[in-house]
Amino acid sequence: MDMTATLHDLTVAQLGELMVQMGEPRWRGRQLAHGLYHEGTGDLDAITPLPAALRRRLQQTHGLTRLVEVGRRRAPDGSVKHLFELADGRRIESVAIPMERKRWTFCLSSQVGCRMACAFCATARMGRVRQLTAGEMVAQVLALRRLHPSSQQANLVFMGMGEPLDNIDELEQALRILSDPDGMKIGARHITISTSGLVDGIERLGRMERPWGLAVSITSARQDDRRRLMPVAAQTPLEEIVAAAAAYGRKTRRTVTLECVLIAGENDDDDAAKALIRVASSGPFKINLIPLNPIDGYPGRPPDRDRVARFADRVRKARLVCTVRDSAGREVSAACGQLAQRSRRPE
Ligand code: SAH
Repeated sequence: MDMTATLHDLTVAQLGELMVQMGEPRWRGRQLAHGLYHEGTGDLDAITPLPAALRRRLQQTHGLTRLVEVGRRRAPDGSVKHLFELADGRRIESVAIPMERKRWTFCLSSQVGCRMACAFCATARMGRVRQLTAGEMVAQVLALRRLHPSSQQANLVFMGMGEPLDNIDELEQALRILSDPDGMKIGARHITISTSGLVDGIERLGRMERPWGLAVSITSARQDDRRRLMPVAAQTPLEEIVAAAAAYGRKTRRTVTLECVLIAGENDDDDAAKALIRVASSGPFKINLIPLNPIDGYPGRPPDRDRVARFADRVRKARLVCTVRDSAGREVSAACGQLAQRSRRPE
């Protein structure tokens, strides 16, 4: 077991294993999990069913993943973007988005920064600073639950900072912990991973044999647009990505979302819609259009409302399911990386 791991990096089974290694009964692992996940405490000392001496030992050998809220911004629709500081002072953001019927969606980060270098993305400007640990992903959920007490039933989307499939070992461990039937109990169907299109990662997600939701940010169905807007496109032809996504959808019996950030004059014309229809008709796909949220350092603008509506209409006329992320509300979450960027301290 990794000695730098915190208790938040471990599954319930691993917590049990740890207890045995420490000379305690295995069921102490369940007590620990109950305190961490069910009670949701951020303080090891509050897990009073555990003997005080054991709590002290755990504090010394492992401790909990530290995540401190250092900023927040609320959008008109009630979405709240939280800026969290990690133990090493790095900052990430997570967004809590209220949905219909009292459900919430939590948008989580998987890395500090990102190396995919998409032209329109704020996080990309940071480069990849470091990977998040599984515990840091889990701790985002626990912190958001604490900050939004009515959100215990939240869906999770890995659509915050970073490329989750570029950090797949830690992601996989986080998914195990989050979906653990003895722990956090979040069903695979309530967790979506969003990727810029890393085929190996998509295949590995498929091998996990759990029906995680998958979203693929193809950005455009025209390869030349993709090359212009997302350097990662040069690595893999779109057909391969789409084939991997379709295979994933069939295997998990889930519809895979193809996401396109719409940018005026770049990928919002009728021909782009036609190309998208062709690609999206080739598998179990639905479309999500995200009008660009303008960022500093990239001159692109979102298409005007009518043009977005026209694009969506065309796609729907081809009998595809197509949603448009509404600007006012989802703006906060779409503006991937912006809060962390703005508050970054000079180094
Ligand atoms: N790396 C993963 C997850 C993080 S990005 C991925 O690419 O899917 C999450 C989504 O936000 C992606 O669909 C991305 O295209 C979109 N996005 C990034 N910057 C944006 C911006 N400025 N405006 C609107 N959407 C943006």
